[in-house]
Amino acid sequence: MLISEEQQKVLNADAGELIEGTVLRAGGGVYEVDAAGNAGASNAIGGWQHEVFLCTPRGLLKRGRKSVSQPVAVGDRVRLRVSETWGATLRSQRVREGSIEEVLPRSSALARSRHNKTAQVTVANLDQCVVVMSLRDPDLNLHRLDRFVVLAEAAELAVTIVLNKMDLVAKRARKAEIDEVCALYEPLGYNVCAVSAQRDEGIPGLRSALAGHISALVGSSGVGKSSLVNAIQPGLQLYVGDVMEMGKGRHTTTDVSLHPLAGGGYIADTPGVKTVSLLAPHELDVAQCFPEIRHKAPECKFNNCTHRTEPGCAVHQAAETGEIAHSRLESYDKILAEIEARPQWKKYETPFSIL
Ligand code: GDP
Ligand code: ZN
Repeated sequence: MLISEEQQKVLNADAGELIEGTVLRAGGGVYEVDAAGNAGASNAIGGWQHEVFLCTPRGLLKRGRKSVSQPVAVGDRVRLRVSETWGATLRSQRVREGSIEEVLPRSSALARSRHNKTAQVTVANLDQCVVVMSLRDPDLNLHRLDRFVVLAEAAELAVTIVLNKMDLVAKRARKAEIDEVCALYEPLGYNVCAVSAQRDEGIPGLRSALAGHISALVGSSGVGKSSLVNAIQPGLQLYVGDVMEMGKGRHTTTDVSLHPLAGGGYIADTPGVKTVSLLAPHELDVAQCFPEIRHKAPECKFNNCTHRTEPGCAVHQAAETGEIAHSRLESYDKILAEIEARPQWKKYETPFSIL
């Protein structure tokens, strides 16, 4: 088996040594840290070997970072010190122990805020949202796609659009449909992958879109998210409720976890986010979440233009010439109207936002 130099270092780490890792799961103050599967492509092609440590944070860390309710979160890059003890068990296997000495700076965080309480970080360093749609069963709906994309934009995440179930569309129609989505979304900077989880088609392209990222899959129920995860990495089950045993304690993991992928990178299993609907964080500026509107807006006559009925709106002019797609402008209108019609939306849980 191919093992990178970095992985070899982890496998040979002596007690007392400091190594870096990524927090995969948490529960009751105990953290499962992956010290080998870095979110880079270092462990490509079959050489996957991830060494996990069960860790408790060093005393000081527990009290630090008061503004955030979790000083150590799933997804955090941490520096851990390897312990001498080997008493810990994870999924019935013995694993090494360590103590988390330092949490490295977060680049982003997936937060779920409950009403007025402090935002709770659930996945730190999440950087990609994979929006899963099916071409059929249920039919592709561009407006629904835009709602998910807007949420990802609001959280400043990279977007990969997956069109699943392409096996359900006859060859000729399939190409036309996929080309249309690519023509709409690729120029906006979004990656589009057409796949069939069931027929195992297009999966390598999706794997490479995931490599090196911490990604969350979102999409309506029934579009094939679970099937896709299984196609990407057979045997990988997304589940919660793992039991971690350390010392005398048994700890059950909480509601979010990261799964290392053989090709590098991680998939976030965030049950709360799977069934996401458009619930905007209150700072949400819808126009900012549409790249093509964002780019055109400075040319509008009024600088507070909402791009609806104002005269001299550059966005509308761009829609007339075909530079901006009608379906996108329609989605923008609908989302804006929806938010205006529901001032109580602030009370809803925010599915993801940046802290
Ligand atoms: P989830 O709710 O998004 O996790 O969707 P599932 O993975 O549970 O899939 C929903 C249904 O779609 C199941 O009956 C799957 O067998 C089916 N399905 C998933 N992927 C494909 C695909 O690529 N082609 C076809 N024809 N069916 C699929
Ligand atoms: Zn305008």
